[in-house]
Amino acid sequence: MRSPAVDLSVPERFGVSIRRQVPLAPYTTMKVGGPAEYFAAVAKVDQLIRLVRWARSVELPYYLLGGGSNVLISDAGLCGLVIYNRCRQVRIDEAPCCVFPQDDRPFVFAEGGVSMAGLARRTVAAGLTGLEWAVSLPGTVGGAVVNNAGAYGAAVKDNLYNAMVMDSYGDIDEVPADRLQYAYRTSMLKSQVPVRGGFGPVVLSANFRLAPGDGAEIAALAERNLHERRHSQPVEPSLGSTFVNPPGDYAGRLIEAAGLKGATVGGIQVSRQHANFFINPGGAGSATAADVVALIQVVQRIVAERFGVQLSPEVQLVGEWPAGQYLT
Ligand SMILES: Cc1cc2nc3c(=O)[nH]c(=O)nc-3n(C[C@H](O)[C@H](O)[C@H](O)COP(=O)(O)OP(=O)(O)OC[C@H]3O[C@@H](n4cnc5c(N)ncnc54)[C@H](O)[C@@H]3O)c2cc1C
Repeated sequence: MRSPAVDLSVPERFGVSIRRQVPLAPYTTMKVGGPAEYFAAVAKVDQLIRLVRWARSVELPYYLLGGGSNVLISDAGLCGLVIYNRCRQVRIDEAPCCVFPQDDRPFVFAEGGVSMAGLARRTVAAGLTGLEWAVSLPGTVGGAVVNNAGAYGAAVKDNLYNAMVMDSYGDIDEVPADRLQYAYRTSMLKSQVPVRGGFGPVVLSANFRLAPGDGAEIAALAERNLHERRHSQPVEPSLGSTFVNPPGDYAGRLIEAAGLKGATVGGIQVSRQHANFFINPGGAGSATAADVVALIQVVQRIVAERFGVQLSPEVQLVGEWPAGQYLT
């Protein structure tokens, strides 16, 4: 499939250059996947807004890419425009906000392309508690807000105050966190992501509210989380947890109990260190998205046969997929 012909000189005029047929594998943590028909990296929010509105006006489907740490892009790639979000402004308020005199928690503002781990580290250094769980989380603030990312019993929803979201019509609104319908690793925004490209919502920025605390305790908790992650998760390219945990159990436990650690399809392997992580040990060029899907299907089938549990992917499949590679 191809998108309608578009005049790329228009975004050039507001400072955004668009390239064609750009390989996306380097922009994902799994290092697999095909090209974007059109691709633009955007570092300023006003350019992001203009680009999305322009794409909408010329009916060019778009897709937002953050750190690419939770998306499996098909080998055929994506039609339309992939927007790589590099908007990275952060502001941590020194003083309590005068609008909320009863509440002394400072605001932490971050644009959608900010590294979530980098933001968490800055808040830890500022003596603020609430994001210690995220000090080594891959990906961006935008991806974390969409996915309700979380770890060690905490998640984005616990400290997010609101998010500045541009909707599919190009209108911008500050959406309070309680309107984002957060649940385990999902949100209203995630359900609206057009995984084959389209006109979905865009997280421009997020406001967190974090409490001041004991700097030494905050730093120690962050360090424990970092240490725990280093010891429990593989370092090879991956997409983190492949499946969401089924109610009352762990996907990794079931996969390990089924004897699937080390199982391999093509260049993709079930990690021996953490069975819910699928790894690409050979890195770029040595595996395909089809390998990942085939391994997911093998693991789903065997776990269902052995334990009667249907594992649901946490990773999002994006782009054009041949019949038979569609996952539920
Ligand atoms: C080694 C490893 C460890 C991980 N550990 C964890 C963990 O502990 N907890 C956890 O929850 N996750 C974990 N993950 C998964 C991943 O890091 C999170 O889901 C992360 O929040 C995704 O952010 P991202 O920027 O990479 O999003 P992407 O993968 O780029 O995108 C995810 C989704 O969000 C959409 N999106 C991204 N940015 C925007 C935006 N600005 N506006 C609108 N939509 C947007 C995309 O279109 C896509 O649908 C891990 C991944 C890896 C590789």
